[in-house]
Amino acid sequence: VTTFAGKTVALFGLGGSGLATALALKAGGAHVVACDDNPAKMAEAGAKGIETADLREADWSRFSSFILSPGVPLTHPEPHWSARLARQAGVEIIGDIELFCRERAKIAPNAPFVAITGTNGKSTTTALIAHILREAGRDVQMGGNIGTAILSLEPPSDTRIHVIECSSFQIDLTPSLAPTIGVHLNLSPDHIDRHGTMELYAAIKERLVAKAGLAVIGIDDAMSRAIAEACEGRGVNVARVSVEPIGAKGVFADGETLVGVTDSDTAPLADLAGIGALRGAHNAQNAAAAVAVALALDVSLEKIRSGLGTFPGLPHRMEEVGRIGHALFINDSKATNADSTEKALKSFDDIFWILGGKAKEGGIEPLESYFPKIRKAYLIGAAADEFSRTLGSDVAHVLSGTLDRAVEQAAADALAMGGPAVVLLSPACASYDQFPNYEVRGNHFRDLVRALPGIEAKGA
Ligand code: ADP
Repeated sequence: VTTFAGKTVALFGLGGSGLATALALKAGGAHVVACDDNPAKMAEAGAKGIETADLREADWSRFSSFILSPGVPLTHPEPHWSARLARQAGVEIIGDIELFCRERAKIAPNAPFVAITGTNGKSTTTALIAHILREAGRDVQMGGNIGTAILSLEPPSDTRIHVIECSSFQIDLTPSLAPTIGVHLNLSPDHIDRHGTMELYAAIKERLVAKAGLAVIGIDDAMSRAIAEACEGRGVNVARVSVEPIGAKGVFADGETLVGVTDSDTAPLADLAGIGALRGAHNAQNAAAAVAVALALDVSLEKIRSGLGTFPGLPHRMEEVGRIGHALFINDSKATNADSTEKALKSFDDIFWILGGKAKEGGIEPLESYFPKIRKAYLIGAAADEFSRTLGSDVAHVLSGTLDRAVEQAAADALAMGGPAVVLLSPACASYDQFPNYEVRGNHFRDLVRALPGIEAKGA
């Protein structure tokens, strides 16, 4: 990025995106002074030619901007010391997406830029939009909060579409965010600890769509609907997205059919039936949003339909790993709380459910209404005893202990049942009592399933 050429900027947080940002700034002629609480990260940056220093000791009057990693608290529970020092010195605090926006404004102000946010479904929707556009032959760069850091992507140009997932923390650090198309999916009380109140959290999300050329907004929760109405009130071009019929322009899901509504007519657009990677009402919302974006970018209906049909889905989110006869194996390792697991339990019947790990507050009590769908449960990790008590005598279950044992037992039981069955890893728990993170847990599940005799693996 050349927008900072000749300037001296400070940067805190040398994780993946922080280091990419420091390198991009340096390559563009800026003088970067970087810092991290982790000495190993400082050393790594130093080895790549980035100047590192303890910013506590620095003369902040030298810095024209301060670039903060989105993982570092800006406001709640309290500002990080570096943010406090920047504010005291009157230095602007921004993030890597802001750098991208300024670069785009300078080198290709009309470059198509799609930004996606929401409490849930960001990654799925971002990946689906990118997939549909790529299948339609477009030049797509996807990243941000998903995958590649934004400044490691190819630069913006008039013919290249950037599809960028934005967390609320990133939006907070991007004052000039004005995407060609902004997508806001939904709001639920998540991350409140980092934003203080629901109102503040909603206000941050609203900023992603408020200055968009087209605002694609999910209206299925009250606060998101209020965002849509506020945008419409201010004259923003809004496409509404819902899993209920809508009375204004947009795309809604009628069961598994996506229906488009324009000023002049209402017409079916695409069918989600049989698309494994887009199972469930929550994915209908994601798909409706993606279709609204693709239509706005002039992708033909035919290309949109084929893109939806070939979407492979994201790993660890209701990912189809394979089947043995009528038994389907699903990796939903990303479901680290009851809310996420609910989506999976809603989507399947005759479930052989593998769950457990490090329990979240409230455990699996919120899932009781789905217990009749559970043929048997296999409990792993630290939560096993607690979950066994919640399941009680209503739900057949065993204390499997390990994921290895649980897969072996669940596969045997599901096959013995004969009819259609689903072996579902949807733990409703964090993984770190037994695994470093949910990805390692999900990868291990996938490996175990692929080693089962008779498995027809998907995507292997
Ligand atoms: P994010 O990137 O916002 O965390 P993902 O696309 O990775 O979202 O999905 C994570 C989980 O959130 C999924 O496994 C599913 O349980 C749930 N989810 C996905 N899309 C939605 C949605 N539109 N509404 C509610 N929950 C969703």
